[in-house]
Amino acid sequence: MDLPLRNDLAGALPYGAPQVQAEALLNVNENPYPPPAEVIDAISDHVREAATGLNRYPDRDATALRADLAQYVARESDAPGLTADNVWAANGSNEVMMHIHQAFGGPGRTVVAASPTYSMYPEYARESFTHLVHVQRREDFGLDMDALLSAIEHETPTLVVLASPNNPSGNAAASHELEAVCAAAANVPGGCVVVVDEAYAEFRRPGVPSFVTRVRDYPHVIVTRTMSKAFALAGARLGYAVASPAVIDALRIVRLPYHLSAVTQATARAALHHSEALLSQVGKIRQERDNTVTYLRGRGYTVVDSDANFVLFGPHRDRERLFHELLERGVLIRVIGPPGWLRVTIGTSQEMALFRKAWEEITA
Ligand SMILES: *Cc1c(COP(=O)(O)O)cnc(C)c1O
Repeated sequence: MDLPLRNDLAGALPYGAPQVQAEALLNVNENPYPPPAEVIDAISDHVREAATGLNRYPDRDATALRADLAQYVARESDAPGLTADNVWAANGSNEVMMHIHQAFGGPGRTVVAASPTYSMYPEYARESFTHLVHVQRREDFGLDMDALLSAIEHETPTLVVLASPNNPSGNAAASHELEAVCAAAANVPGGCVVVVDEAYAEFRRPGVPSFVTRVRDYPHVIVTRTMSKAFALAGARLGYAVASPAVIDALRIVRLPYHLSAVTQATARAALHHSEALLSQVGKIRQERDNTVTYLRGRGYTVVDSDANFVLFGPHRDRERLFHELLERGVLIRVIGPPGWLRVTIGTSQEMALFRKAWEEITA
């Protein structure tokens, strides 16, 4: 039987990192620490309460959750004055990004991204029929500002998507670079929205600002965030965007009604009420990250400065072999980035000790 699969999907495979069991899961940038007992109790209580009303559809606009998120971001990033009207929420920042592409991309339109970057960006473009233009980053994974500003001028995109800190490299863009991108986007005839994907914001090093503080200066900027990484809540699927109310209203047009279940809303609100407990391990992860950078540099590797919870290091002559030999020793990392590089997510101190021990064995 012929299935009328879209021509552009012929031969395509479902995307995702391999889900294999290993002693140390250092491959998809999760927080290695499960939620503390008090948070598990709070989530259970909130979900039990929500269950009493599960015969009804959830709050379509997730207003209470969006107000909680606004309060959290205002506090975390020192960006006072944000309200629910500045926040959008969906099932992971993946869905938020899909909404952004559906609202501001589309057939005949162009999105500009700076590669190598997050491997989902081509998928958002494909699913929204938006033409994706890659601008290559510099050798050190920093933004090539001349190339980027020139692409914004000549491609007249409706969207620019930049991950900062970038995945898989871990480095953050400087504020003045993002400001220059915003200025160039403001000159695109017909308008251009700049998305700063801050999935790893909470891991940034001291002195590295979040672009959330600039949302009120730039009505065409969207900062996306997630509870999947620092918040240790990848399983709950909750991502959000911070932007001007006009942008949020545009995203509300393309969402499916009741996209966020009452259970998800209850879980996320309970977690936000305990953000300090959930984020309490972030300092430890940052310290472990800095130690990992120092360790790998000490062994002679090039390591990108990281403001995230992972580290990209190289060069490796045979990264596939190293990946498999680590896995045989119980350590799962990720073959990602340009040829010759490997990415390791920062786990617990014990997991990182296991990583170092295994690494020394396989490179001895
Ligand atoms: C992990 C990650 C996300 C998070 O996706 P969720 O759907 O929120 O789990 C978003 N952007 C980047 C760059 C990431 O690495």
